[in-house]
Amino acid sequence: MPDNSKSAIVQGIGRVKIQKFIKEKTYFTADVSKVSEKAVKKSVEIDTKITNLTEIFNQLIDLAPYLSEEQATTLSSIADPGKIADRAVSFLNINIGDKQNILEIIDVSTRIDSTIKLISKEIQRIELGQKIQSDVQDEISKSQREYYLREQLKAIQKELGDEDVGLEFQELAEKIKKAKMPKKVDKIANKELNRMKKIPSHSPEYTVSRTYLDWLIDLPWNDESNDNNDISNAQNILDEDHYGLVKVKDRILEHLAVRNLKKIRSKKNDILKSPILCFGGPPGTGKTSIGKSIAKAMGRKFVRISLGGVRDEAEIRGHRRTYIGALPGRIIASLKKAKTKNPIFMLDEIDKLGMDFRGDPSSALLEVLDPEQNFSFNDHYLEVDFDLSNIMFITTANQIDRIPGPLLDRMEVLDFTGYIIEEKVEISKKHLIPKQIKEHGLKKSEIKFSENGIKLLIDSYTREAGVRNLERQIANVCRKVAKDISAGSIKKSTISPLKVSEYLGPIIFHSEIAERCKKPGIAIGLAWTAFGGDILFIEASKMPGKGALKLTGKLGDVMKESAEAAFSYIRTNYKKLSLDKNFYKDIDLHIHVPAGAIPKDGPSAGITMITAMLSVLKNKKIKNNLGMTGEISLRGNVLPIGGLKEKATAAHRAGIKHIIAPFQNKKDLEEIPDRVLKDLKITFVKDVEEVIKLSL
Ligand code: ADP
Repeated sequence: MPDNSKSAIVQGIGRVKIQKFIKEKTYFTADVSKVSEKAVKKSVEIDTKITNLTEIFNQLIDLAPYLSEEQATTLSSIADPGKIADRAVSFLNINIGDKQNILEIIDVSTRIDSTIKLISKEIQRIELGQKIQSDVQDEISKSQREYYLREQLKAIQKELGDEDVGLEFQELAEKIKKAKMPKKVDKIANKELNRMKKIPSHSPEYTVSRTYLDWLIDLPWNDESNDNNDISNAQNILDEDHYGLVKVKDRILEHLAVRNLKKIRSKKNDILKSPILCFGGPPGTGKTSIGKSIAKAMGRKFVRISLGGVRDEAEIRGHRRTYIGALPGRIIASLKKAKTKNPIFMLDEIDKLGMDFRGDPSSALLEVLDPEQNFSFNDHYLEVDFDLSNIMFITTANQIDRIPGPLLDRMEVLDFTGYIIEEKVEISKKHLIPKQIKEHGLKKSEIKFSENGIKLLIDSYTREAGVRNLERQIANVCRKVAKDISAGSIKKSTISPLKVSEYLGPIIFHSEIAERCKKPGIAIGLAWTAFGGDILFIEASKMPGKGALKLTGKLGDVMKESAEAAFSYIRTNYKKLSLDKNFYKDIDLHIHVPAGAIPKDGPSAGITMITAMLSVLKNKKIKNNLGMTGEISLRGNVLPIGGLKEKATAAHRAGIKHIIAPFQNKKDLEEIPDRVLKDLKITFVKDVEEVIKLSL
């Protein structure tokens, strides 16, 4: 060979039988005897067999990669049938043993048969191998395909800008872990996460799922603030933030103290049943702000929802997730905001809860407030229980008697009646004015309210039980002063009564009592409103006519009827009242209740109507500074009324010195604050005659 190595081609030319091996060093030598092969006679049988052999060999060539057409040509060039078989076998890639077997077959016909068998076995082997291989190939290409598709999907998502989907899932899983949910909830959250992974990120369902998970994650399952149990600290904070309200503060402190003791001394699984406080009273009397102070004192978060106008149970309890745009109810939503599971939770205006076909929110609230049930509050949206038992609920209401009975049953009402003028002055000085000065960016040295200025603000620019409008008017004054100071026109201002009217314009509420009651026919009634009671003028006048009674001032049916009853009483008792028998024949009586645009109703103006009518009929002035309230019967009995406390407080606020009230209301006397009773005389009467004696 070109590289100086040697190559040898060896060709077998005949069969020998080994008699005995004579072993030598580098190659075998043996004693052999020649096998005589009979020359085969040409026959159809052999010819056919050879044709079969070459055919099957050609098939093999097609399949076996190690054979080529050349070998077929080689075979076809051989004439001796035995040699054809020998050569064919030598081409095959089979084990030596098989080849040897063929070699040992002397009979040509048998040898050809065996060769054909061998070849067809080889074909089968190759075919099977190929099938296995193609199966394997299939398997491989399938997984390759998936891999490829997935890569493509990634590329598409990247193109669409949501390549962070995977990252998002990872983040969510971590957040779920961190949220420290109860086991049951944790399981549900993870299940939802797995579900979400299967939803395409652009489908709306993905967002629904995501929002739900976010809610679960954001709820304070285990976060709570540590309670500050120091009662004297609580007292200090309550006193600092609010003037007066002594009884209320005392009751709150007692409530806190009992809670503390119970908490320390109760066993672990005891349900702490303490009544829910309900702050009842007109607006602006400090209910909300006391609630905030309690939260401050206890070191808890404060959340508040207003129930005014809530008619739908779902607002409390949430919508089921099957609704589009469903969300949890307000309780759960507020807890998410509070970020702790034990806030002070104020339910405002619980008396203004509505009810209609969408369910009864008060029954949902019952569940919220009931310590026996609220450790497993079930919001329709969340579908998992949340423990509300660590929350301290406080409710507020303007009108206690409008609170649904079962709810009221669970609450203890603390009265916020409203303030008298002296208290309002103190509240202004200590709280409202400093607060507004600060809020308007002023310095204490720049604005000073004189006592009389404050009184004028209270008296003539506000008429309310609370101090909300007062605070607004103080803010008005501060704003005007701030404007003047920043314009450079003044350096500081003292708010005297003159300044008040300069800044706020003409007086809004006149102290009309003295003014209006100068003439006969005007009586002062006491009304009860959601804002804590008010005074009400009832005017009567007579004119030539035919004995008709005319009523104006947007009176309700009850009030109209009580005017008619009053008129009938006078006509029936003309003698006792020393009136002429036909006093009404040629006059018409007109009763008007001013502030004509405001609807008024209720039976308690009966005695006031009689007094006003008699006053005009007899042309006699009614006593100064006298207010009255009481229903009448046709027989002249004075019947009891509601809301004496509010009415008395309102009368006191308006500067009335003496009121007449039904005898049966005497029991309400103890509800009326001492500071009111100090300046206000109350006479309890049984009979209209007594009223007339006192008033005319
Ligand atoms: P409510 O909830 O009863 O309608 P708010 O609590 O909102 O009334 O009170 C209105 C405003 O009056 C608040 O700014 C509050 O701080 C103030 N206020 C009410 N009562 C007092 C009080 N006794 N002492 C100090 N500020 C008060």
